[in-house]
Amino acid sequence: MRKLALGLAAVSIVCASSCSSPEPKTPPAPDPPADPPAAQKKSVPVSLAQVGLSKPALDQQTAACDDFYQLACGGWLASTEIPADKSRWVRSFNEISDRNELELRTILEEAAKKKGQPGIDGQIGSFWSSCMDEAAIEKAGTAPLKPLTDVILKVTDAKTLGVAITELHKHGIWAFFSIHSEQDHKDATKMIASVDQSGLGMPDRDYYTRADDDAKKLREAYVAHVERTLVLYGVKGPAAKAASVDVMRIETELAKVSKTRVERRDPKSLYNRLDREGLSKAVPSLPWAEYDQAMGVPDLREISVTAPKFMEGVETLIKKEPPAALRSYLTWSVLNQMSAELPQAFVEEDFKFVQTITGQKELRPRWKRCITAADAALGESLAQAFVAKKFAGSSKQAAETYVREIAKAFGEELGTLGWMDATTKERARKKLTAMAYLIGYPAKWRTYDWPVTESYTKNALATQAFERRYDMNKIGKPVDRDEWQMTPPTVNAYYDPQRNHMVFPAGILQPPFYSVNASVAVNLGAMGMVVGHELTHGFDDQGAQYDDAGNLKDWWEASTQDAFKSRTKCIDEQYSAYEVLPGAKINGQLTLGENIADAGGVKLAFHAYRSMRKDAPEEQIADGYTEDQQFFLATGQIWCAKYRDEAAKLQVQTDPHSHPRYRVNGPLSHLPEFAQAFQCKPGSKMVATKSCAVW
Ligand SMILES: [Zn+2]
Repeated sequence: MRKLALGLAAVSIVCASSCSSPEPKTPPAPDPPADPPAAQKKSVPVSLAQVGLSKPALDQQTAACDDFYQLACGGWLASTEIPADKSRWVRSFNEISDRNELELRTILEEAAKKKGQPGIDGQIGSFWSSCMDEAAIEKAGTAPLKPLTDVILKVTDAKTLGVAITELHKHGIWAFFSIHSEQDHKDATKMIASVDQSGLGMPDRDYYTRADDDAKKLREAYVAHVERTLVLYGVKGPAAKAASVDVMRIETELAKVSKTRVERRDPKSLYNRLDREGLSKAVPSLPWAEYDQAMGVPDLREISVTAPKFMEGVETLIKKEPPAALRSYLTWSVLNQMSAELPQAFVEEDFKFVQTITGQKELRPRWKRCITAADAALGESLAQAFVAKKFAGSSKQAAETYVREIAKAFGEELGTLGWMDATTKERARKKLTAMAYLIGYPAKWRTYDWPVTESYTKNALATQAFERRYDMNKIGKPVDRDEWQMTPPTVNAYYDPQRNHMVFPAGILQPPFYSVNASVAVNLGAMGMVVGHELTHGFDDQGAQYDDAGNLKDWWEASTQDAFKSRTKCIDEQYSAYEVLPGAKINGQLTLGENIADAGGVKLAFHAYRSMRKDAPEEQIADGYTEDQQFFLATGQIWCAKYRDEAAKLQVQTDPHSHPRYRVNGPLSHLPEFAQAFQCKPGSKMVATKSCAVW
């Protein structure tokens, strides 16, 4: 199962009256906690900057109760341009990423002085140098791909096709399908193999099947892009055109049998223990014994298949398609995946299609792309110097405090939930107690035992081959619960329902998410909201299907299960009504888990902030804003964001996270504590007529 990240991964209802129908005894929402007695607290005037908020980012012409996002971010939205090399720009994530990139660049440039030498610096320095050496990349051309393209040329039947697929998969080029290790959904102690649908060049299967004009135009642009790339590779004009048509036909067939993103949110449907026997039966044309041997898992037996119908579709395609078409598809798969590591003409052609999808104006500078590549290839080696320089001990302690306070808040909220029975509550408590958290960086650094050469394209293949072996080697072994799925400089966080743990990389524990100088209200409104969001993932519509140990197992009493579904359906309907751009509405089912986590996250963080400040003798009033108001402004200001129209549409189609405006206004308009903080009256735009609350 994919981890549930913060940002940058169903069941459904209509709120008119059905939101509470299966739960007749639901008591009215509890009153918000009473304000601390103001008379006893001394007011201390400070500025917004002093507590860690941005005054210029505000639009104080807009009333909080009308459009809180606009109040929190309007000034920033009016004054901020999306950089030409970005398709979206988020005040928190991107500004921190930019700072982190500069730090990583310094580290890599220093390391480059030791290239070729043994040790971590020598390794990351050599990799960086090879990536920055554009002249060498131009000179090598596509020759480094020869080991892959040679086997593709030999494809004449199912057997030779099997050999070619194997060679590609050994390098992480997922033609047709993919294979990974994963924790067994029903046995949290062991690792098995997961075979998943794959093989598409466009970012969503729906782009191949949607009938609207946008999708049709995208398909035309894609076929032209495939053709131009093949011409760059040396395929002659008419042959390249015919090959692009073949590629599109094969990918469309794969798309038709692929599960949708919403279908893929149902963990039970993704767990199909066909094992080796069942898989061989579904796709008898492929030589599985040879495949497993070459992938480094000769004794592989335990296999879950995410989409059995997809694998049957692969078998049909293999039988139906002429060898020449299969060769074109495989060649395209290699070029598409490797474009970024090839000469500039390929990089630019690849970017042209990215531009069509995202609206990004300019290619990111090479050094930035090389940092991304180094982070992907040698992430935990690169991270060590980053952590030493950028990760302050205070941020680790703060994150630990927030986790503790927010877990406590969840426990207290649980006690007040009228829709949940006592038995299920006890099990939820057990899961909460078992939930682990990892902060900053891994306890043990992993190593990358492959030789970095001077050829960047070869290095790109070598890292992929190494990562595939590393991944396959986990199968059959116990689960490593301390393993990280994000590198420490990453500006993000995640909850993994199978490990039942939250992970907060060093990269995110920085302003505006966290600052040692910011007030408790502001740190909790920002970083606290992130912690609450991740914790709530343990109990969203997906996370709730896993027990305390991380097994996919029903632990809910039936009546409470119904009440939960009814409540999550309310959230589905709430978000489905939001229109990001004309004609582009949020998909309430795709974004359900994230929306539940946002609503729970801000509520828990507020609860924790109140508890941490309840005995404070004074209240800081920042440019007229109370501490409660500062908390909400902090939540708003981490999500100040601008998207190009194309990127906003892509997000609606593919991203399980809602557009930032609704990640703020969505939860807050349903939170009584927000209405109270800003004295919003019933009937205000920021006060929902019917409140959807789960946690
Ligand atoms: Zn999330």
